[in-house]
Amino acid sequence: MMKHFNPFEIPFEELLGICKERHGHLCAGQVLGARLALLGLELIGIRDPYGADRKKFLVFVEIDRCATDAIQTVTGASLGKRTMKFYDFGIMAVTFLNLETGKAYRVIAKESAKERAKEYFPEIENPAQRELLAYKIMPEEELFEIREVKVTLKETDLPGKPREKVTCEKCGIVVRDGRHLIIEGKILCKICAGQSYFEEVDLWERLKK
Ligand SMILES: [Zn+2]
Ligand SMILES: [Zn+2]
Repeated sequence: MMKHFNPFEIPFEELLGICKERHGHLCAGQVLGARLALLGLELIGIRDPYGADRKKFLVFVEIDRCATDAIQTVTGASLGKRTMKFYDFGIMAVTFLNLETGKAYRVIAKESAKERAKEYFPEIENPAQRELLAYKIMPEEELFEIREVKVTLKETDLPGKPREKVTCEKCGIVVRDGRHLIIEGKILCKICAGQSYFEEVDLWERLKK
């Protein structure tokens, strides 16, 4: 379990230290992700994400890169707790939703920040090093674009016990939280419905070779 701390009450460098420890190294992604997370939480009025407010918000990430770990560290949201949702879109953007007020903001990391970082540290040639330092001091408006959005949630998206549990009529495997499909009247898991990310290996065929 993640140690209880309030990201708003510790110095930014200390927060980065925690991000570094959990991510494995310090990189521009940790700086960008930590700042994005603080901004996002603030926008939806979450001031104590690990404490009193921990059940009041959801975080939707759209990329699986360095910054995602910092988002998780700073917000305390996680896939396992269902407080973090992952959409594999390859976009450096995160949506923060306040479950009590329904307010939601999508914070998008600006691509132009990389170019802008050169103006802050022209003497540093290594882009990763330059961005790491620049992202600490660049104003939020140079790093991020903010959009107010509306997120429609299903009951089965919320944290807590699974609301729904069905058995796939083709493979017999249990599917939770309404993630099954009904095709031609049949309840199917997504694998059996053709949305698989793998191909089954025929073990018997392989042994014969
Ligand atoms: Zn990294
Ligand atoms: Zn199935």
